[in-house]
Amino acid sequence: MASIEMKNIVKKYGDGFPAVNDISLDIADGEFMILVGPSGCGKSTLLRMIVGLEDITSGDMIIGGERVNDKAPRDRNLSMVFQNYALYPHMSVYENIAFPLRLAKTPDDKVDRLVKEAADVLELHEHLERKPANLSGGQRQRVAMGRAIVRQAEAFLFDEPLSNLDAKLRGQMRTEIARLQRRLGITTVYVTHDQTEAMTLGDRVCVLRKGSIQQVASPRELYEQPVNLFVAGFIGSPPMNFLPATVDGATLTTPFGTIELDEKRAAAVAGHELLLVGIRPEYFEDASLVDEAKKHVGTTFTAKVDVTEWLGDQQYAYIPYDAPDAIRTQLRDLSRELDSEELRTQAIVSIDSTSRIREGRDAEFWLDTRKVHVFDPETGDNLT
Ligand code: ATP
Repeated sequence: MASIEMKNIVKKYGDGFPAVNDISLDIADGEFMILVGPSGCGKSTLLRMIVGLEDITSGDMIIGGERVNDKAPRDRNLSMVFQNYALYPHMSVYENIAFPLRLAKTPDDKVDRLVKEAADVLELHEHLERKPANLSGGQRQRVAMGRAIVRQAEAFLFDEPLSNLDAKLRGQMRTEIARLQRRLGITTVYVTHDQTEAMTLGDRVCVLRKGSIQQVASPRELYEQPVNLFVAGFIGSPPMNFLPATVDGATLTTPFGTIELDEKRAAAVAGHELLLVGIRPEYFEDASLVDEAKKHVGTTFTAKVDVTEWLGDQQYAYIPYDAPDAIRTQLRDLSRELDSEELRTQAIVSIDSTSRIREGRDAEFWLDTRKVHVFDPETGDNLT
């Protein structure tokens, strides 16, 4: 196994804007790192440079302590699992898994031992004589991983391996990949644009935008302490709400009433007149369901409910609000970049499923103001 270090990696295709723009990232030995970001942010290009399928324009790629920029893919001892699994249809599962060992002229008895060990780990032993066409998507995925395991590769690289599967199988395979990676402890880099995969699989997640790293952190830290508007809007479903707010000392005035900031956050917003307040849907609650003691730590406001969605364990309510034109334009641009449909001049609140709020009526909501984030609308930076 090996660590993967990237130092100031740049990739330019032709004369255009770099697809990967000065990326430095250290992936520890045995770590599960996710590369995530919207379409075109450069995640596949980065992965392909690790594996050697793409030249590096400048910077250093160091695997297991050795600079590999000029090393051919076959000499890097990495194993890539593609979306379509790249299995040979005419070969049995056994031969598909054995394939890299045959190429390396491994003796038959060793091939047999390694294939059977991998098949045990992957619970494929009953299917070794089958052809890929007679396997489920999940089983094919495991065969592809088996091939990676027998090679005893230094690292696994996955490029959106689950995007061809239906939602149920995707969920199962996600759990399976997580379990296997933990069991094998192999350094893994996994590209996805699916934030559920990003949040559930990785030890750490690297969020990319337009070829640059926005934040590298554990899933929890990304969720709780996003460094900027982009990460805050990208991570979380339904997404974080961004409300315009004017500043007067420690008091923020939002379309849903005022928020008193603590000393530290008040200092962070000093000098700003207009801000964006970031509020996750679950920071809200139906005020009638919140006990009095808790109410004191937040703020309560009345707003008209547009639409409600009851999901069984919780319900969403959509509350429109007014925003200045400049903020509207900015939110629209951000929504577009994040591929999210709504224009975000309505807040999405997630409240208890027992709430009796009704569409088209006023309702009283409580907001846990301790948790809100405050963003600079110009730079997008999280000020808190
Ligand atoms: P997706 O999620 O859509 O696969 P991605 O984040 O993996 O996107 P890349 O495929 O790495 O993004 O592409 C990054 C940028 O580089 C994009 O703007 C893309 O158009 C460009 N690009 C990728 N491959 C090439 C190529 N062979 N020639 C020219 N430009 C390319």
